[in-house]
Amino acid sequence: MRASPKRFYEGKPVIETDFFVGQGWLVELVRIENFGLVLIHYKDDGTKWKSSLHVPSGESVLCPPVEDEITRHVRFASRVGIYASAQDYLEAVDSFLARCLDLDQRYRFLLACFVLSTWVVDRLPVAPYVALVGLPRSGKSTALRALHLVCRRGMITSDISSAAFYRACDRLTPTICIDEAATAGQKRTLFHLLRSGTTRDAVAFRQGQSYHAYGAKVVAWTEMPDDDALNSRCIVIPMQETMRTDLLRTTDPEIVERADNLQGHLLMYRFKKYNSLKLPPIPRYERLRSRDRDLYEALALPIGEDPKACARLLECLEYQHDLNREPLPSNQMAVLESLFKQIHLQPGEGAYALRQLKNGANLNLGALGERFHWNEKAVSGVLKTFGFLNRKRTNSGWVVQIDRAARKRIHELLSLYGVDSPAACLPSQAPNELCEFCQPQDPRNPEPPSIEHLARETSAEPGGPSNLASTISEHSEHGELGEHKNDAEERPRRWGWIENQEDQDLVDWVVRGEDLKKEP
Ligand SMILES: [Zn+2]
Repeated sequence: MRASPKRFYEGKPVIETDFFVGQGWLVELVRIENFGLVLIHYKDDGTKWKSSLHVPSGESVLCPPVEDEITRHVRFASRVGIYASAQDYLEAVDSFLARCLDLDQRYRFLLACFVLSTWVVDRLPVAPYVALVGLPRSGKSTALRALHLVCRRGMITSDISSAAFYRACDRLTPTICIDEAATAGQKRTLFHLLRSGTTRDAVAFRQGQSYHAYGAKVVAWTEMPDDDALNSRCIVIPMQETMRTDLLRTTDPEIVERADNLQGHLLMYRFKKYNSLKLPPIPRYERLRSRDRDLYEALALPIGEDPKACARLLECLEYQHDLNREPLPSNQMAVLESLFKQIHLQPGEGAYALRQLKNGANLNLGALGERFHWNEKAVSGVLKTFGFLNRKRTNSGWVVQIDRAARKRIHELLSLYGVDSPAACLPSQAPNELCEFCQPQDPRNPEPPSIEHLARETSAEPGGPSNLASTISEHSEHGELGEHKNDAEERPRRWGWIENQEDQDLVDWVVRGEDLKKEP
């Protein structure tokens, strides 16, 4: 939001904005075909919205920004649809993606969750990313363009180093779609952007200015980057060349029309959900690593009203996690298992002798029939790569210090590298040695997600079944998602809540598609 000190409307200063939250109302920027940028003014009671070029807000007046080189490249919503259930939105996005992409339904579901999340990304704890991974001609670009059509404020770009790009991120929080191949030679810039764009507080600097690069992103890669922290923020979609001939191009008028409608519905979803995101408790949630929890929360919050969809999301993320974990070489695994065993056999001790760990690892290797043998120094090196750096020399030789966080990490590493039940590594004569990180939590009482700051009370939630019918009749000529008609005759009814002549004039301009150069 930025003030335009030289502009006044009815004696009040004009403030340009793309989004604003008032008391019981919201304003969002849309672009009407043949007309330009307009604000949709939505009232929280769930039944009223209107298009407007001037929205009074206290002592000032909000208005859409003037179209410029930044807004021009962003795909704003162009309609306002109807409110439906999370399940309806997920299905509508899924059926849209199925029309142009040859993807397993599990991946389509994850992408549908991602698309919804982009519409409330400014309410999420972290921004989710999509990594489309595949060889050239595997359909990555098609998927990138399809997502660009239906995400909030999609923007395809290869210019990721200019100040203008960062200004766009900062001002409009678009969903950035990047093809790695198109940014050749800018690998460092790309990584910097992706790392700084996932959390709200990170700031990027360009030409002496600071910018926020927070926002959802889609990146097409030929191979996943070697960056565990970054990858844990990504939904990874493996792409393969398709033999199907029935898929539509993303430039096909049918696809574009469906995407326009879908964006309109998702805009209504944003209005309705903006102040009421919350997560239901999901059994098995605690099985996710803390990093994976961030991604899960970011994708589950937007569909939190639907515990079944959240459970399916968890299942899909676990599946993706299983697919992506790399097996650890058996000699390194032997060290990890040896350490795991020691911390359970001697739970009270914070220091473990490298000699003992080495002996345990070599026993494990022997049991596997491996000829390889560790010495203490090499074991020390492996512990370092796992992040256990705290070693010291004692009278009885070198020891590694393991605190509570390190214990937790040992359990996480084992499950990360394919041991489903780490406790199975313990000797059978020690069944009582399960520690707090071995114990599965009581599924009836799972650890609640840490999102209190987001779980605002849902005030009145209009738009339930009884309410939906009236919403439809008031605003829309179509009965359900995906069935917009494009009949100019019927368009006026899409624009509701007419209060005065000025708004009526604007509505007429909008529906007639006349060029409005001057403001009324
Ligand atoms: Zn344990």
